[in-house]
Amino acid sequence: MNFPSEPFKIKVVEPIKRTTREARDRLLREAGYNLFHVPAESVYIDLLTDSGTSAMSDYQWAGLMLGDESYAGSKNYYHFEAVVRSLFGYRHVIPTHQGRVAENLLFSTVVKAGMCVPNNIHFDTTRANVEHQGAQALDLVVKEAYDPHCELPFKGNMDLVRLEETIARVGREQIPLAMITITNNSGGGQPVSMSNIRATRQVLNRYGIPLFFDACRFAENCFFIQEREPGYAGRPVREIARELFGLGDGCLMSAKKDGLVNIGGFLSLNDDRWTEAITNMLILVEGFPTYGGLAGRDLEAMARGLEEVLDEDYLRFRIGQVRCLGELLEGGGVPILKPIGGHAVYLNAKEFLPHLHQSQFPAQALAVALYREYGIRGVEIGTVMFGKRDQASDRVIYPELELVRLAIPRRVYTNMHLAYVAESIIELYHRRDSIGGLVMTHEAPQLRHFTARFEEEMLAVSASPGTDCMVMPRS
Ligand SMILES: *Cc1c(COP(=O)(O)O)cnc(C)c1O
Repeated sequence: MNFPSEPFKIKVVEPIKRTTREARDRLLREAGYNLFHVPAESVYIDLLTDSGTSAMSDYQWAGLMLGDESYAGSKNYYHFEAVVRSLFGYRHVIPTHQGRVAENLLFSTVVKAGMCVPNNIHFDTTRANVEHQGAQALDLVVKEAYDPHCELPFKGNMDLVRLEETIARVGREQIPLAMITITNNSGGGQPVSMSNIRATRQVLNRYGIPLFFDACRFAENCFFIQEREPGYAGRPVREIARELFGLGDGCLMSAKKDGLVNIGGFLSLNDDRWTEAITNMLILVEGFPTYGGLAGRDLEAMARGLEEVLDEDYLRFRIGQVRCLGELLEGGGVPILKPIGGHAVYLNAKEFLPHLHQSQFPAQALAVALYREYGIRGVEIGTVMFGKRDQASDRVIYPELELVRLAIPRRVYTNMHLAYVAESIIELYHRRDSIGGLVMTHEAPQLRHFTARFEEEMLAVSASPGTDCMVMPRS
């Protein structure tokens, strides 16, 4: 087994339950085959998301006891502010309770109707918050990002030609800022290189357009730079991060990812005028500027998490654990998105279930089978999430990729857990012919993946062997 060994030992345990296949089958029917409606307690290995699911360290938990819950000027805020300034280098530090509030505060301040915001790929809440202002969210990632087999070291890079064309087409005054998402979550957790960020900066400089980072997974991105980009081997990740953020004018972050906390986020920037407007809005919707919707203890945990995430033993383990899961799957012949990203492995459902058409929701069907057979929960990123009905022709437009994302929570599952995941998926792959399609019976007008309901097209899967199906991983 090539799994890296854990750079921590376990002090507190949280029991997880192995349910029976029968119980999971019933829960699926009750949930309308939507895994968002399955109670987490009935999931054995939960890979729905890496957001807010991290295990905090003893040092972070100890920090919770030092929470200063003063309304104004909590000492935890000053600690948090000092950490963010030293890591990211921007003057103003504005805490929020999670990432999307930071997005909303920034965009509602600087983006006006009819404007455009370029990004490599907008995360769904980022896109929604840009569009909420009546503006256009443009995804300008390199074209290879949409090819699941193309192995580029920095597949999250911005397409500089398209960026330049976009600015020329819409005009500088229509672009209040450009963004780069590190790592590129919606494109498979793929990193962006320092040289691409520098080149993006140079293009933007010619027009005087500010650059902001969506920094959710900045430490993972900087670790990839150290590992893959010429000239960065052996450079401390912290230094790489400083160099990277020095190329921007600000960042926003959901600390539920690389902040190693269960709740929290922030916005950090240099511009005084923008900060004043954002702060006024913050007070209106989120809280006083020294707590921003969080308790003092949460700020302390976040300050400590942001320091810990740069520990290179941790990052080596983190990236290595995700990579090893991907390699085990690949070794078993399972089609996955390549290269393996920083926070998740993506199953390629089009190739896993070639007998299903996209109208039968193959990625959803695969996610459902994975839960029913093995108690593992992933998330569909395919037709359920991104399929659209074209109003004019009334035809469905299918997304390019049909994926099941297995997002790995930080410091939560042991390598044995992930070996079990790999073994289960490989076994499922061997009997993939038994997986039938789904029919959508209910959908909401927006973000339908959260509330959609389905029925099974055929019930061949229920005849598969085993009632318990808990396979022990071979070592
Ligand atoms: C999670 C995430 C967000 C939104 O953050 P929340 O804390 O969920 O509101 C924004 N951008 C990216 C890239 C993310 O992964």
